[in-house]
Amino acid sequence: MISKILIANRGEIALRVLRACKELGIACVVVHSTADADAMHVRLADESVCIGPPSSRDSYLNIHQIVAACEITGADAVHPGYGFLSENAKFADILDAHGITFIGPTADHIRIMGDKITAKTTALELGIPVVPGSDGEVKSEEDALRTAAEIGYPVLIKATAGGGGRGMKVAKSEADLIEAWSTARTEAAAAFGNDAVYMEKYLGKPRHIEIQVFGDGEGNAIHLGERDCSLQRRHQKVWEEANSPALNVEQRMKIGQICADAMKKLKYRGAGTIEFLYENGEFYFIEMNTRLQVEHPITEAITGIDLVHEQIRVASGRGLSVTQDEVHFSGHAIECRINAEDPRTFVPSPGTITHFHAPGGLGVRIDSGAYQGYKIPPYYDSLIGKLIVHGRTRVECMMRLRRALDEFVVDGIKTTLPLFQELVSNQDIANGDYDIHWLEHYLANTPAA
Ligand code: ADP
Repeated sequence: MISKILIANRGEIALRVLRACKELGIACVVVHSTADADAMHVRLADESVCIGPPSSRDSYLNIHQIVAACEITGADAVHPGYGFLSENAKFADILDAHGITFIGPTADHIRIMGDKITAKTTALELGIPVVPGSDGEVKSEEDALRTAAEIGYPVLIKATAGGGGRGMKVAKSEADLIEAWSTARTEAAAAFGNDAVYMEKYLGKPRHIEIQVFGDGEGNAIHLGERDCSLQRRHQKVWEEANSPALNVEQRMKIGQICADAMKKLKYRGAGTIEFLYENGEFYFIEMNTRLQVEHPITEAITGIDLVHEQIRVASGRGLSVTQDEVHFSGHAIECRINAEDPRTFVPSPGTITHFHAPGGLGVRIDSGAYQGYKIPPYYDSLIGKLIVHGRTRVECMMRLRRALDEFVVDGIKTTLPLFQELVSNQDIANGDYDIHWLEHYLANTPAA
């Protein structure tokens, strides 16, 4: 059993995990940098420990300080949230060596999925459909030319250690292949300290559809349906929906079952997300995230299952609280990521929130650590909150979202709220008719409202 959880994160997700701990009657400790001393999760926690200066490397990524904080406070488990150390296999190993439970999968599973080539090979072995591409790393110019000729142009060069859309280059023809291959390698080396790249067929108009899975580590696993995260800019998700406007029930249950079966074979433990590109009725695996996702609340909205409760339950060795037959999907949910950024240029806008009023009412959820007077530090990512709206149908959900956005006030800084006001009134969005490039095209072709 887990008696005290240390939350190794900040911002809205630290608050999210803290709420789950409180509901379960589990004591919790938060850690924070000097820049986050006034953060909401620090104010609400039972105990807090300052672990270092603002820079993430010296605080939220500082494994020694976090382990020391566990020892000082007697925490017997760590919830890593997303980002930071959540997909760091070494961190999971170190906690294990200290007898502290890592609320997540095994270090081995993190390693397998953290490397995109092994992840893809594993997915194939587990019966998950993948994007046609190179057989492992593309090591030389000759290799690149031969593979591209086999797959057919356009192709995409991707970093094995990739993340956040970095180190990716498209080659439309043989003429730009070598340059794309070498730039991708240079970018990958700079961003990840690993220049290994591989090649995939470049899909022209796919949607990004991901399946939420959950395993107990003993060979039982379920899926909780999909999320459509096609509205992206620079490969960063902006707006997510569950269910996807593009899938019907049969397609949902079929791909969901493939993923759940794969997780059973893997004996996967905890929450995971299997990401696909979806085009012309086919799914193509791109990666698996071995952690809770930012957009998990839309799955919670349509299933009524608290994913953090479930993570803690599984980590305590109590298994899943539901079987696949007990998972029911109800209605439609949309999440908008509210960032402290210019809604057009996406340039970060840190500073003090002079006025803050969050919407409420039936079917409206706000996950945010922001409050009036809160000073957003410039050191971390710019997500300041998430607006999650649920309705019985997609139409009801969109009407409710429009109403909630009208109520939302954040003054003193720029936010992405005005962009969502535009999107919620857009005809393509109303029709659910968009792919992963839609938002970039929209931003390039529409003057700000
Ligand atoms: P990262 O880990 O860097 O986020 P992913 O493999 O998850 O990389 O891909 C991020 C995004 O890049 C996808 O959501 C999609 O928009 C685009 N992408 C990735 N692979 C392909 C592909 N084969 N064809 C077209 N777009 C792709």
